Amino acid sequence: MTTPDVYLITIDCLRPDYVGAFNRLARMTPTLDALLSRGTIFSQCVSHAPFTTPSIASLMTGHYPLDTGVRLLLGQLCNESLPTIAQLAQQAGYSTAGFPSAFILNSDTGLQRGFDLYRDIDDGVSSTRGGCWQPCAPIHDAFERFLADAGRDPVFCWLHYFDLHDYHLDQNLPHAASYARDVYEKVDQQCMRGLLSIIERHRSVNNAAFVITADHGECLYQHGQRGHGWHVYDSVIRVPLVISWPGKVRADSSNHQLARHIDLLPTLAKLWGVEIPTITPGVDLFDSTHRADIVSYAEASPRQLFEGDATARKMFAGPEIQSIRNERFKLIRHEDGRIELYDLMLDPHEHHDRSSTEPEVLAAMTTRLDAMLASTGNASRTRALDTEQESAAVRERLHALGYIHE
Ligand SMILES: [Zn+2]
Repeated sequence: MTTPDVYLITIDCLRPDYVGAFNRLARMTPTLDALLSRGTIFSQCVSHAPFTTPSIASLMTGHYPLDTGVRLLLGQLCNESLPTIAQLAQQAGYSTAGFPSAFILNSDTGLQRGFDLYRDIDDGVSSTRGGCWQPCAPIHDAFERFLADAGRDPVFCWLHYFDLHDYHLDQNLPHAASYARDVYEKVDQQCMRGLLSIIERHRSVNNAAFVITADHGECLYQHGQRGHGWHVYDSVIRVPLVISWPGKVRADSSNHQLARHIDLLPTLAKLWGVEIPTITPGVDLFDSTHRADIVSYAEASPRQLFEGDATARKMFAGPEIQSIRNERFKLIRHEDGRIELYDLMLDPHEHHDRSSTEPEVLAAMTTRLDAMLASTGNASRTRALDTEQESAAVRERLHALGYIHE
């Protein structure tokens, strides 16, 4: 079998419970479901931050935000000593291209490392929402040009779709209804159908591997908020994940163990047969011997994310919320010392804080979180924003994305 082309697809804000392959009651994603049936579904996948840039930085490097140094939306350079998935793809002989679609993922994040072509969204690119992001049509045009010119080498392409991000702007529908509509119309019918028809025109879907996930979910007013970024409850941290790979990954199968975005880099490295040059906390998702006693970390800094104060974004003051979970329990620790503990098996929506009724679990999870923080670089490699970057135009674009509340 020839080396498959690999498409890494990240769909901004997509919750797994709105995808048919993860929830039989959801019937909004026929194209996506058919594609997902080619691979293994990871029903318990989590991201490491509830908003775009830190989440993608962790996914691309196989390291938590503690080590990538990307903890906010802008102004932080991803730790350049960490290899990226795209660099491993190059090592495996792939031609690589990245289509990030939103300016908060532009190459000044350092996430372009390893991509032969990286298509920034900037003021010169026609876009919606004040130059913040592009819908799938122009992204697909650029993707198709890349595939049309690609030679005989296999291709590794990353496409990040932002099309679902603005579902809440429709004032005529309740949020959950407009979200569901956009999952069908934008994600499934436009993004996924368009993607597959382009691949069919230039390469082969049958000789393609797909890794499909989301950077985070969406609150939809669970825990009183809309949007994402406010907290680390599962409405925003749980994400869909499917990996398909002709000849190597079983089709139409499910894996219900805890899976993490940091596991994608070592998993892809194994599938490609390349060495990872540095130690990563992630493990190969298809190696069940590594899965025992696994935990995952997530953090959020809503005050520093949402406040309009430029000073707050220049100097990252440390995460405001930190969380560690295993397959059953999740500990959430706030900067003011407040603690929450949830039994995800009995209480998946995290309504009943068990920190006072499960003291042993609380102690064990606290010890585990402290050990993790002590053992990582806990990088605050915050690149100071220069005055140009913190211009009125940038502030306007962040506001247009819904991230600055003034
Ligand atoms: Zn996002």
